[in-house]
Amino acid sequence: MNFELTKEQEMTRKMVRDFAEEKIAPRAVDIDKHSDFPDDLFKEMGKLGMLGIPFPEKYGGSGGDTITYALAVEEIGRVCGSTGLSYAAAVSLGASPIYYFGTEEQKQEFLIPLAKGESLGSFGLTEPNAGSDAGGTQTKAVLEGDHYILNGEKCWITNAEYARSITVTAVSGKRDDGKNIISAFIVPKDTPGMKITSPYDKMGVRGSNTCEIVLEDVKVPKENILGDPEKGFGQFLHTLDGGRISIAALAVGVAQASLDRALAYSKERQQFGQSISKFQAIQFKLADMAMEVELARNMVMKAAWLKDQGKPFTKESAYAKLFASETAFRSANQAIQIHGGYGYMREYEVERYLRDAKLLEIGEGTSEIQRMIIARQLGC
Ligand SMILES: Cc1cc2nc3c(=O)[nH]c(=O)nc-3n(C[C@H](O)[C@H](O)[C@H](O)COP(=O)(O)OP(=O)(O)OC[C@H]3O[C@@H](n4cnc5c(N)ncnc54)[C@H](O)[C@@H]3O)c2cc1C
Repeated sequence: MNFELTKEQEMTRKMVRDFAEEKIAPRAVDIDKHSDFPDDLFKEMGKLGMLGIPFPEKYGGSGGDTITYALAVEEIGRVCGSTGLSYAAAVSLGASPIYYFGTEEQKQEFLIPLAKGESLGSFGLTEPNAGSDAGGTQTKAVLEGDHYILNGEKCWITNAEYARSITVTAVSGKRDDGKNIISAFIVPKDTPGMKITSPYDKMGVRGSNTCEIVLEDVKVPKENILGDPEKGFGQFLHTLDGGRISIAALAVGVAQASLDRALAYSKERQQFGQSISKFQAIQFKLADMAMEVELARNMVMKAAWLKDQGKPFTKESAYAKLFASETAFRSANQAIQIHGGYGYMREYEVERYLRDAKLLEIGEGTSEIQRMIIARQLGC
């Protein structure tokens, strides 16, 4: 067993950390305050190869692994949850399914621009009446000659306004046992009949682009179906397993930021004639935060390592996502507590961490769904 990062992993982490601290961190407050999607930063991240970390060079990527990608998500999440979510969704939900399941033509046409960061990836699964129960998808795809005609509605889809193409799921037929067949379709954004708006006023991750998509008689060529049409459901479950590692990494970033801020503040703030870091009640909070951040990071690294080794990682990615997201929420909450009244003020930023952390317990499978996945893996 070896807990050391490779030279390449260390180098990428440093590159992303430098970029995050120099370019993203100074804008994090405004990104949140004005719900301002930082399109220009993503263009720069694209040029640095950050959008293509886990993809081979022949598809425009940097040829890195899942561990390197998770380190990058953590570094971005440490300075800005909104940018971290947009980044994780672009790579894990937008580009990855095309890499895993796409034909060579689809990879050439759709994956390469995503890996190079020329466009952002977006994945539309959730619907107003199908959230945790994704099998309840109501969007329909009907084959007419060489095209599928899509009708339906998707909600809370990250990055859709900044994507050149969006992968959406739809019911494309019925199996012999009467259950719906759900397939995924790559829909170029300029396809007539697809309307994308971002009408939501969010609690946290306010600078991420969250969209409603209405599909009305959207005509998609048959060759834009992603992977095996009969196995669309299994494919997106695999995509979500991978995505959970990135949400967990993002949560570790938010939790680490909460710890860093709380520790620094506790050393500065004087009460009763000494810094509050001298009080055991504060020390115990910091000790618990530090321990949980370390445990969450280790779980993220293990899940990423298993994925890189081609071993099963469903249970471990659920462990990582569940533990890290709940750690992020607890750490942000304690960071506010350690800041006292100042923590309740926007100026000190820790309240933003709490608002951002809450999303991580909901998106890409709620905490309840993660517990169900783990229980199923235990054979319950
Ligand atoms: C900011 C943001 C960005 C998002 N980005 C995307 C995206 O890019 N693409 C995408 O497809 N989706 C996206 N989502 C949607 C997200 O994945 C869903 O919100 C999530 O899966 C939960 O679905 P729901 O909101 O419909 O909740 P519901 O499924 O209605 O759940 C409500 C509550 O019931 C619980 N519950 C549901 N079923 C069970 C059960 N069987 N047992 C016990 N408890 C249960 C849930 O855990 C939850 O507490 C995003 C959401 C947000 C808020």
